[in-house]
Amino acid sequence: MNKPQQLAIFGATGSIGTSTLAVVDLHPNRFSIFALSANTNWQKMQILCEKYQPKFAIMVDELSAKKLKLSLNNSTIVLSGADALNEVVAYDDLDTVMAAIVGSAGMQSTLNAIKFNKRVLLANKEALILSGDLLMSAFNNSQAQLLPVDSEHSAIHQCLGAGRSGLKKIQLTASGGPFLHTPLSQLKTITPKQACKHPNWDMGAKISVDSATMMNKGLEIIEAFYLFGVSADNIEVVIHPESVIHSVVSYKDGSSLAQLGLPDMRCAISYALFHPDRQDSGVADLSLADYQNLSFYQPDLDKFPCLKLSIDALKQGGSAMGALNAANEVAVSAFLKEQTTFLDIAKVIEKTLEAQPSYPVDTLDSILENDKTSRLLASQIVNKL
Ligand code: NAD
Ligand code: MG
Repeated sequence: MNKPQQLAIFGATGSIGTSTLAVVDLHPNRFSIFALSANTNWQKMQILCEKYQPKFAIMVDELSAKKLKLSLNNSTIVLSGADALNEVVAYDDLDTVMAAIVGSAGMQSTLNAIKFNKRVLLANKEALILSGDLLMSAFNNSQAQLLPVDSEHSAIHQCLGAGRSGLKKIQLTASGGPFLHTPLSQLKTITPKQACKHPNWDMGAKISVDSATMMNKGLEIIEAFYLFGVSADNIEVVIHPESVIHSVVSYKDGSSLAQLGLPDMRCAISYALFHPDRQDSGVADLSLADYQNLSFYQPDLDKFPCLKLSIDALKQGGSAMGALNAANEVAVSAFLKEQTTFLDIAKVIEKTLEAQPSYPVDTLDSILENDKTSRLLASQIVNKL
């Protein structure tokens, strides 16, 4: 019998964290929970700590850490602050890190998990957008494993099991989000509640808004560029509202391979947790006969400008991708607080990118500085709207 994997789940209280624990629950002998982390939700963390008895529980927010500590009556060590994430990934006992913090807040712990040669399951796509060059060079100089959790990238990873020889292009499928058929003229009055109601996937608020603006797909193009080393011109986006085909790779000989499954993240999470083995994820089998039609079409770049802004940022390279990500995080947060309109999100990103020419970012300091200045700029733009 295999020794249980010592697993840390960063972002344990979120959508991906919850789905990861649901897969773990199906295989109690295969995992031991080394660490769980969250930002402020100490009440949910208390329940998780009582159930999983992790060695460490990290609350990034200090006050929440104090509350968790007072509420627990077991041997779990409660740590606080973002540095605690880096402290925990340094432990030799730890095997696997599920990087499922949302946004740039997950970048440094993901980078450190790679530097400490862990098996890193990457959901936190923003880490790659912000620090793709640095992160991939750290990965190439490490013994770490990097397994995608994003469903499209998991699909590509699975298809590329057939080899990279003659690889021509990648087609990322996109559901099109909740406003695929909403006329542009009606997008101005969209509320956060409407934007967070995704037709196929149940996700955290930030990625739900990203899906509604299609920024999510833009970020995924950059994610695919770094993970699979395919140039921007060879990554296409195709709208596929049923979300059954999770992505496609095409080879020179005219052959295309796709990975299919029900839209449920436990499938991609299980693939990453057990790779190269396959185990039960709790997701039902796909029955193609249940689908009369699977449809595919081109994305509308006028209606979803975030997609084009992402492609442009990737082509510019350097700081442009970090600026894109920072401006998006600021604009989405302002939209969720009803300080901006839905259509303002793309405007804030565009103006932030226009205001600063791209420059090389190849050190951690320059990446953090780019994130900080871009956030400041984007906040000023939000305030002036
Ligand atoms: P979520 O909002 O449901 O959960 C986010 C988690 O991050 C929570 O545990 C929260 O406590 C933690 N967190 C938030 N801010 C933090 C901070 N400043 N410092 C430390 N921790 C913080 O988000 P989610 O939907 O689970 O998404 C997590 C990541 O996975 C995102 O990068 C997202 O793009 C990616 N992803 C999610 C899905 C999905 O289906 N939900 C699919 C593909 C990729
Ligand atoms: Mg995805």
